[in-house]
Amino acid sequence: MTARVLVVDDIIANVRLLEAKLSAEYFEVITAMNGLDALDAVQKSKPDIILLDVMMPGIDGIEVCKRIKGNVDTQHIPVVMVTALDQPEDRVRGLEAGADDFLTKPVNDIALFCRIKSLVRLKMLTDELRVRSPGNDGNARSFLDDRMNSKRGDVLLVDRHPSSAERIIASLGDRCQVTVMTDPVEALEKVATRERPYELVIVSFDQDQFDGLRLCSQLRSGDSTRQAPLMIIVNPDEQQILLRALDMGVNDYLMRPVDRQEIMARTATQVRRWRYTEQLRNSVKASIEMAITDSLTGLYNRRYLETHLTHMIDHYVNRGKVLSVLAVDVDYFKAINDTHGHDAGDKVLQELAQRLRDHTRSIDLCCRIGGEEFIVVLPNTDTMTAEKIAERLRRAIAAKSFIIGTPAPVPVTISAGIATLSGLDDSLEKLLKRADSAMYQAKREGRNRIVKAGLVA
Ligand code: GH3
Ligand code: MG
Ligand code: MG
Repeated sequence: MTARVLVVDDIIANVRLLEAKLSAEYFEVITAMNGLDALDAVQKSKPDIILLDVMMPGIDGIEVCKRIKGNVDTQHIPVVMVTALDQPEDRVRGLEAGADDFLTKPVNDIALFCRIKSLVRLKMLTDELRVRSPGNDGNARSFLDDRMNSKRGDVLLVDRHPSSAERIIASLGDRCQVTVMTDPVEALEKVATRERPYELVIVSFDQDQFDGLRLCSQLRSGDSTRQAPLMIIVNPDEQQILLRALDMGVNDYLMRPVDRQEIMARTATQVRRWRYTEQLRNSVKASIEMAITDSLTGLYNRRYLETHLTHMIDHYVNRGKVLSVLAVDVDYFKAINDTHGHDAGDKVLQELAQRLRDHTRSIDLCCRIGGEEFIVVLPNTDTMTAEKIAERLRRAIAAKSFIIGTPAPVPVTISAGIATLSGLDDSLEKLLKRADSAMYQAKREGRNRIVKAGLVA
């Protein structure tokens, strides 16, 4: 991962040190040495994350943070306050000013890269969502944020010690619903089988009682548990274990004794990231669906038919398998519109789509390719079977008039042409053309009927 990091500190040695560490890991570093320059750099170079010293002459870090978080153009940029170990109250002030996380001087490498990665990943998700949000302006972020933060987090805590669990619940209680489990095997089972996934799993490592690394690796390798955000709690002398856990893909960690502000800030970040990811997944799914389906009937659209059928034809031709298509067109549909109105016409199309679905198999592909024109793709189906299916469809439509809110049910019929894949030279265009010609022949012969295409169009 690479990202642009703005380092702000009034002491040059501190700036250089962080700059060297970050550059060595291929981050792009920009620097500022006072509050005003920092705000200027935020506007000009749009960093992905800001490491902000608290104590600076003039405008201090807390004030800089407030201004960044108070501006709709910059409030989505994560801010990490860098605080002195002996000034714990700075953390509270930083969080109140809107900071996303904090690091303590002297900055430890593991902590530095872990926090930066976690927050930069979160920012990438929010950036992606901001691009996709309708009316992509500053309000999008606040809107997203409201949605992301309004609900209490749904957190699983795996902890052997009731007293430690209680302290964590007391810290998170206002913001999160915390479920506590003491047995790692049961916890794994619970995460794997729970219908609504936890938004964060916190594992409190305890070398004497159970192997936390094993639980983390199991959570990371199971298909149904791999997505769950993971945060661990370790002792300060467990550096090696911590490194292995981070290698395994654990998202964040806390050191004992657990600081109340820290656990709150990091839990909030993880829960938010999880929610953004979910939202993004749903939005990708929705746009894929929109791109391949027809909005009136919910059937596949022409674009999907063409892409999908081209692949299928390749596959079928190469393996000498059989496939048929039906070209279906509603008879005298214009008259239905003229008599009952356009809305009634739409309802006829919807009901017709439903009957197509009801009378085909799940592997068949029903598509609406134009106004009242449909294509049904029948995999592994020869002409004779296709004819039976088409006949069944025709009857299913003609036999029962359509109830669509008109004074009387409306009789509807279809004409359909059948074409079957034939030979190595066959193609999508030829196949559809043959089906279409056969359908027109059915129209000429009086409608409400099925015609098989000749082999040559
Ligand atoms: P034929 O039996 O020869 O197919 O006659 P037809 O009237 O069904 O065919 P024609 O192509 O003359 O008319 C199709 C009509 O379908 C014309 C058009 O206004 C209507 N139409 C196309 N798309 C839609 C739609 O989405 N909704 C509605 N309600 N009508 C549509
Ligand atoms: Mg028609
Ligand atoms: Mg037509």
